[in-house]
Amino acid sequence: MPLPRTGSRRKRLLVHLSQAVETLGLKKAPITHVVPFEGALHGNVKIQFFDVSRHEFGHFESISKALIRLDQGTYGRCTYCRKRIESEVLAETPWATLCLECGDQESQP
Ligand SMILES: [Zn+2]
Repeated sequence: MPLPRTGSRRKRLLVHLSQAVETLGLKKAPITHVVPFEGALHGNVKIQFFDVSRHEFGHFESISKALIRLDQGTYGRCTYCRKRIESEVLAETPWATLCLECGDQESQP
């Protein structure tokens, strides 16, 4: 039974996402604040604070953004020039947002 094309990409991204979440979780137990709602809404909202580095959170964010792009149908497109991102780039970095050319330009001083 063949999977839809985006299905396996999503699966791969979700694996990366869960690894990133695990990294964040291992770092330090989150501090959970329970905020009680009053009025129209009832129940509580749990807000968790993670003591993580900007880099670790950035990694997590890149993966979740890639999943959003997958839903929007813009996954695999360079966010700068709108060309297709080379498949070898996506194979190595599934959450890549730039094609090789634009990525090169960005890394230059
Ligand atoms: Zn580009």
